[in-house]
Amino acid sequence: MKKQYIIPIFVPHLGCPNDCIFCNQKSISGQTENMTKEKAKKIIEEHLKGIQTKENATIEIAFYGGSFTAIEPEKQEELLQVAYDYIKEGKIESIRISTRPDCINKEILKRLKKYKVKTIELGVQSANDYILNRAGRGHNFNDVKKASKMIRWNGFQLGHQMMVGLPESTRIDEINTAKALIKLKPKMVRIYPVLVVKGTKLEKEYEEGKYQPLPLVQAVEVCKQLVRMFADKKIDVIRIGLQNTDEITDPKGEKSEVVAGPYHPAFRQLVEAGMWYDVIVEKIKKLNVKVKEVEVTVNPIDANNVIGHKKENVIKLKDTYDVDLILKQDEEIKQGKSKIEITKTYQDFLD
Ligand code: SF4
Repeated sequence: MKKQYIIPIFVPHLGCPNDCIFCNQKSISGQTENMTKEKAKKIIEEHLKGIQTKENATIEIAFYGGSFTAIEPEKQEELLQVAYDYIKEGKIESIRISTRPDCINKEILKRLKKYKVKTIELGVQSANDYILNRAGRGHNFNDVKKASKMIRWNGFQLGHQMMVGLPESTRIDEINTAKALIKLKPKMVRIYPVLVVKGTKLEKEYEEGKYQPLPLVQAVEVCKQLVRMFADKKIDVIRIGLQNTDEITDPKGEKSEVVAGPYHPAFRQLVEAGMWYDVIVEKIKKLNVKVKEVEVTVNPIDANNVIGHKKENVIKLKDTYDVDLILKQDEEIKQGKSKIEITKTYQDFLD
């Protein structure tokens, strides 16, 4: 299988007409200056130099941050042209952009098509209009529906981004958001637990005691449920949690722009390892015997998640159920699948 590379180009807050409660594009992208074609070219060249086996790779340029299609059209074309030139030279396969649901129309899609943009990701955040309004998003869920349909009908790949832990959002709201997104048939989703970032309105609310972020454990639990829902519908969850950067890091760190919230450097692993833990426990509980040792065989790609972050699953199984977890790896087993065998019961142990 070809390895996928994404060359991210952050276009910070340019053209974004909004001021969402949780957003400080400077912190999230780590950038304050405007993007130019020269800078974009430099970023692309640097990334291309770092990719050794280009024959075995699919490389994509991604314009992230801000709301790409809300930038002045000339600027969009300037940046898209840079990326498109690389496509024509055969050095890059495709382009993806992220934008707001109310910044999609026929004309915009025509422009994106001209430059061979393949994927459009929409910042949805919630399907609940009250929560969207509370977060200062400036669009409603109907905008999401309209934009999603137009994107798919025009042959683009559709991506959605949703958040958990927005002010006044409950687990039920987040599950309903996932259900509503599934109906719109995205190819991929990203799930972001809300972090309180410096310089945002949310920071103010947090300091005034009006907003309480989700504890890490709770954020992981909600994300587990959402990932399961999307996986059942074969929708790729391409990111869980904000990317770690110098700024988006442990709130205790000196340079960190994160004030509070369910930050963890391996957030995705916590979610995926938690899902494996549930699978193993469910298997053990179904049996009418007291289990002492369980052998789990998975694809090597899943091995770390079965064990858990810092062996959390091994420790938890031992502490909670007094069960020893033995991990086996087998390339023949499909990723995400497993063979779970009870290798020792309490009776064997006593014998
Ligand atoms: S629309 Fe996007 S870029 Fe603009 S403020 Fe909201 S989250 Fe930030």
